[in-house]
Amino acid sequence: MQSWNELKTRAQNGGFPHKNLLIGCDFDGTLAPFTLKPHQAKLPTEIRKLLERLARKKEIQVAVISGRALKDVEKKVGIKRLIYCGNHGLEIKIRDQVWIHSEATDLAEHIQTLSQKIRRWLPQFSGTELENKHLSLSLHYRRVRKKSAIKKLESFLKKEMSPYGDHLRVVHGKKLFDVRPKIAWDKGDAILHLIKQLGPSWKACFIGDDVTDEEAFHTLNQKALSIRVGPAKNTHAQFLIHNRGYVERFLKLLVQRYEK
Ligand SMILES: [Mg+2]
Repeated sequence: MQSWNELKTRAQNGGFPHKNLLIGCDFDGTLAPFTLKPHQAKLPTEIRKLLERLARKKEIQVAVISGRALKDVEKKVGIKRLIYCGNHGLEIKIRDQVWIHSEATDLAEHIQTLSQKIRRWLPQFSGTELENKHLSLSLHYRRVRKKSAIKKLESFLKKEMSPYGDHLRVVHGKKLFDVRPKIAWDKGDAILHLIKQLGPSWKACFIGDDVTDEEAFHTLNQKALSIRVGPAKNTHAQFLIHNRGYVERFLKLLVQRYEK
């Protein structure tokens, strides 16, 4: 695993392909600061400007790949010409065409039933929030402080999930439990899918901050450059950078390089 200095050197010295780079970025915690309530998250102006400048370049494609629903992340960012991927890459919008993973569509019915069941007992856990993203659910506990309450929440969720074990799975992310369809598909697969669409000359990098992004780093392995936004003890990513400030510095480097 390498750090910021190596990444910077690589970006400055042409370690990236000069042509055709797909930049995949997670949203919450990577581009936008993590907020106590998910709907409050906002793309910082400086990052927006950098993404807009990158999006103008023909040899660059920027994809925002989030666990949020596609419509939600598209609205949060709102820059035309970007590629948007929602539900951890299960839904992808490229040039106004929306693609949805067919197995996820098939399992959406279970997600809806489970959502209704969870809503029945969730009010007893204050500080939680259930986000129904149609293809998956996010059970947020950003405002729950007590570890015992989080443990209890987890056990309630696991019990409710047990009839769906063959179809759905729980992923423990940053202050949330994600309920997703049991499909071998993550943000990394979404990146590989996009490269196929764009053409063989395209190379990709992916930046993410969450434990759940580790699946993508693992899937991508050597097929794309991977960057984890820290802190992390272990990562499958090739580079580990300290915080979102370095994401901004990295995007700036790319702007400088591709505007030359
Ligand atoms: Mg994130």
